[in-house]
Amino acid sequence: MTVHFPFQNSYAALPDNFFARVAPTPVAAPRLIKLNRPLAEELGLDPKELETAEGADILAGKTVPAGAEPIAMAYAGHQFGHFVPQLGDGRAILLGEVVDRNGIRRDIQLKGSGPTPFSRRGDGRAALGPVLREYIVSEAMHAMGIPTTRSLAAVVTGEPVYREGALPGAVLTRIASSHIRVGTFQYFAARGNVEAVRQLADHVIARHYPEIIGSERPYHALLDAVIARQARLIAQWLLIGFIHGVMNTDNTSVAGETIDYGPCAFMDAYDPKQVFSSIDEFGRYAFANQPRIGLWNLTRLAECLLPLLDEDKETAIKQAEAALDGFAEQFTSAHQAGLRRKLGLATEREGDRELAQALFDVMTAGQADFTRTFRRLSDAAGSGDTSEVRAMFAEPAGFDEWAPRWRLRLAEERETSPAARQAAMCAVNPAFIPRNHRIEAVIAAAVRDDDFAPFEELITVLAKPYEDQPAFAAYAEPPQPEERVLQTFCGT
Ligand code: AMP
Ligand code: MG
Repeated sequence: MTVHFPFQNSYAALPDNFFARVAPTPVAAPRLIKLNRPLAEELGLDPKELETAEGADILAGKTVPAGAEPIAMAYAGHQFGHFVPQLGDGRAILLGEVVDRNGIRRDIQLKGSGPTPFSRRGDGRAALGPVLREYIVSEAMHAMGIPTTRSLAAVVTGEPVYREGALPGAVLTRIASSHIRVGTFQYFAARGNVEAVRQLADHVIARHYPEIIGSERPYHALLDAVIARQARLIAQWLLIGFIHGVMNTDNTSVAGETIDYGPCAFMDAYDPKQVFSSIDEFGRYAFANQPRIGLWNLTRLAECLLPLLDEDKETAIKQAEAALDGFAEQFTSAHQAGLRRKLGLATEREGDRELAQALFDVMTAGQADFTRTFRRLSDAAGSGDTSEVRAMFAEPAGFDEWAPRWRLRLAEERETSPAARQAAMCAVNPAFIPRNHRIEAVIAAAVRDDDFAPFEELITVLAKPYEDQPAFAAYAEPPQPEERVLQTFCGT
């Protein structure tokens, strides 16, 4: 059976210095672990074809399908604040693009498919653990309604990769509306190649922001649009307790999708200073620092675009600053609106911000589980009984002071039935998130015992994060003290 991909590649038609042409390196014994059938269909692919041996060969990079133009994209990036002029796809290869059922162009990329000219000292490979981790978390983010790259498939290669010891190798098929990053702009800007920056900007506008085409100042509009999407995205992360962990400029998508699930994690107990990544020594990418870093990354993008904004550098800088000034307002407005929804408030009143902050303060002091507290608060809005929320706090005195304030504020809302309010809150306060201890258990079963049943079960639960799913109630529970995961590691 032939596997058909309706490729319509556009990035590979850009100038040669945008990428390196390189084919995936064949592997010994590909085996399909997981195919995301609904996503395959959305992309216009036939799941039945992909589930054949030939499909597994393609998804492992052993065979290149007809119409693919495999390339490794060039990019640079600031890693933890330090500029690296050349990074690029060191372990990922873009097979090509398809236009999906909704008319949206999507990249099909293999991650872990062998070395490229950008691999530096790396082996171009991925271990099974990080591949499963990215699959689980990216699909959970999508199910929660957060813009993200997706996971189409996971295969094991039948070959070991060597990290601390030998681990099973795997390849993830990643889908993105594009893999263009702030670091892609930096790659050309750092080389003084203004013409390439312009070509890239035009490509991004045509692909992600077509509403800008023909506008009087397209590059100003592009900067505004990327700022708006990142502001909204980071607000969404904060509203569900997500910590990206490695917000380098090469991991910042200009399409506004969450990309690069390395040491990312959801927090259990609320702590604005929470850091999981083993390499984030100074908390640069701590939970509450993410908006600040988002703006820092966008400032790097603005620097790249300066020559396109105005011939006069001073004027260009002023215009870029004005655009960047919009970030704080857009982030705050998205974040505050989201917090009101989490608290069951359909209207906006003075004092709402303080009400939300006061809850976060008592959550921090009481080490309350972020996700569960909000879910139980949703249920309390229906039942009128806050005792289960109270039970989330190690030290409930603060909550006891806060709860009557919340009730009084709810009383100022338009009249609505408790059940309707509960439903509205449950639609934004997930019951199920990909908790670290669950992910670790899934990875251990897969790597140690070749057992993928726990992985299947976890992704099934996480596909409906806002539904109660009583049969899987245990998945909603925070980790026991001995189950707590305190550190996560990059997927390299
Ligand atoms: P990341 O930490 O995943 O954002 O990767 C940062 C840079 O390191 C990117 O240029 C990656 O392509 C490259 N890289 C990460 N892991 C590997 C690997 N195993 N082999 C080659 N390059 C890698
Ligand atoms: Mg990266």
